[in-house]
Amino acid sequence: MHLQEVPVGVSDLERFTPLIAADRSEALRALIATSRDTFAGRTVWNVNSTATGGGVAEMLAALLPYARGAGVDTRWLVIKGDTSFYAITKRLHNGLHGVDTGALGDAERAHYAEVADANAEELLAQIRPGDVVLLHDPQTAGMVAAARSAGAKVVWRCHIGVDHPNDVVAATWDFLQPFLIAADAFVFSRVAHVPAWAPGDAVHIIPPSIDPFAVKNAEMSPEAVRAIIAGIGLVAADGAAGTPTFQRRDGSPGRVDHLADVIRTGPAPSPETPLVVQVSRWDRLKDMAGVMRAFAEHVDPATGAHLALVGPNVSGVADDPEGGEVLAACHDAWRDLPHAERARIQLVCLPMYDLEENAAIVNAIQRCAAVVVQKSLAEGFGLTVAEAMWKARPMVASDVGGISDQIVDGDSGLLVADPTDLAATGAALNRVLRDPELAWRLGNAAKARVGQRFLGERHLRQYAELLASLLT
Ligand code: UDP
Repeated sequence: MHLQEVPVGVSDLERFTPLIAADRSEALRALIATSRDTFAGRTVWNVNSTATGGGVAEMLAALLPYARGAGVDTRWLVIKGDTSFYAITKRLHNGLHGVDTGALGDAERAHYAEVADANAEELLAQIRPGDVVLLHDPQTAGMVAAARSAGAKVVWRCHIGVDHPNDVVAATWDFLQPFLIAADAFVFSRVAHVPAWAPGDAVHIIPPSIDPFAVKNAEMSPEAVRAIIAGIGLVAADGAAGTPTFQRRDGSPGRVDHLADVIRTGPAPSPETPLVVQVSRWDRLKDMAGVMRAFAEHVDPATGAHLALVGPNVSGVADDPEGGEVLAACHDAWRDLPHAERARIQLVCLPMYDLEENAAIVNAIQRCAAVVVQKSLAEGFGLTVAEAMWKARPMVASDVGGISDQIVDGDSGLLVADPTDLAATGAALNRVLRDPELAWRLGNAAKARVGQRFLGERHLRQYAELLASLLT
C-alpha cells in the first residue's frame, strides 16, 4: 500500500475580488489574516480515494491551492486499495445512496479495515500532533481512529447521501459508524444527508463549490469552444474551426490533441445543431440511460436537437469499477433504439490522459450546449450542475439532493420532481429548446445564483471557520 501525494499548486484568493461583493472580500481578507496564526506550524491533510475523476477530486484540486495561497500548509494524499477494497467502497457509496449492490458482512469489514490500517500506517508516519486531517467519503472512514490517536484533529466529510434514507442506507451507516464515531467533526453537504447517529454538535453543513478560474470553468471564447468540440469529433469541423487551444491553470498555453471516443451513426452533427448534454461519470445513479430514453421518446424531433451523453473514458477513473458496465449498458440500449432516434443521440467518452485537456473539453462542451441535463436519481451535490449554471446554461435537472439547493425551479433552471418521469424530463427539454427567451433568462439567473452561493471563496471561509473552532 502506498499513499500517493498529489502536488498542490498555489492560487491567490484575491482573484475572487472582482466576482464578489465588497463585504465578502473584506471577510475573506480578515479570515486570511487570522488563519495565518491559527494554522501556523500545522499541516492540513486531505485524504481521499482518487486524484482524478469525480466531484471530490475536482473540488480538492480547485480549493487546496487557495488554502496554500492563504499561507496554510495544505496537502493532499490519495489512498491505495486493491480491487476488492474498491468493490466494497463502491457498495458503500451505492449504499449511502440507498442502492443495494451487495451485502457487506464480516469478511468485507475485515478487508476494509485491513486496507484502511495499511494506509493509516503511512499517514501516521507523516502527521504530527496538532495537525488537521480531513478524510473524504466512505473510502477513508477506516482511518479516523488512527489519525485521532496520533493527536490530529480529524474531520470526516461525506459528499454523498439521499433525501429519504431507506434500510440500505441504515445498513451502510451500521457498517461505517464504528469507524467514524471518533471523529472531531462531520461535514455534510446538506441537512437531509446527516445520519441520526451523528452527534449534532459535531455536525457542520458545508455545500460544495466550483472554482471559476479552473480550466473547467474559466472564460472561453466562442471560437475556442467551436474549435475544441470540432477538434475532439463531437461536431463536424466546418472549415471555420481554428486550433483547439486553451489556457492552463499556470497561465501557459494548452492544446486539445486527443479525440473523444464517439459512438454514433454516420457523420458528426453540424456545429449549428442544438445539443442537449449530460456530462457525468458512467454511474447508474446519473441515469445516462434514462436521459437517452427521455430524449428518444419525448423530445420533439422538430426541435432539431441532438443528445450527447458525455463521460470519461472508462479506464480513467481509478475508484469507479462500475463505469465500464454502465457504459456498456448504455451502448446496448442505444443499439436497441429505432434508427431515427439513434441518429440523433451520441455517446461520448472523453480522453483522460491530461486532466487539464479533459477539463478544457468539458468546459467547451458545457458552453456549447443548448440545454444541460442532470437527471441523477440521487445526488450529493452535483458539481456538473454548478459548472453549467456558472456558464449561464439553462438546466433541466432532477429535484434531488444537492441539485434542489442549487436550482430554483422556473428561475435558475427547471427541476423535474420525479427523476424517473421520462415524459416530464422530455417536456422540460422541449420547453427550453422551443423558447430561446426562457433559455436565456434561466441561464443568466443560474450564473448569478452560483456567483452568490457556490464559489470556492464561500466554501473556504466555512472550512476555515470550522477548523478554527476545533483548534482554538
Ligand atoms: N467530469 C469530468 N470529465 C468527465 C465527466 C465528469 O471532468 O468526462 C467531472 C465533472 O465536470 C464534475 C465531476 O467530474 O466536475 C463530477 O462531479 P459531480 O459532483 O457532478 O458528480 P460525482 O462524479 O462526484 O458523483
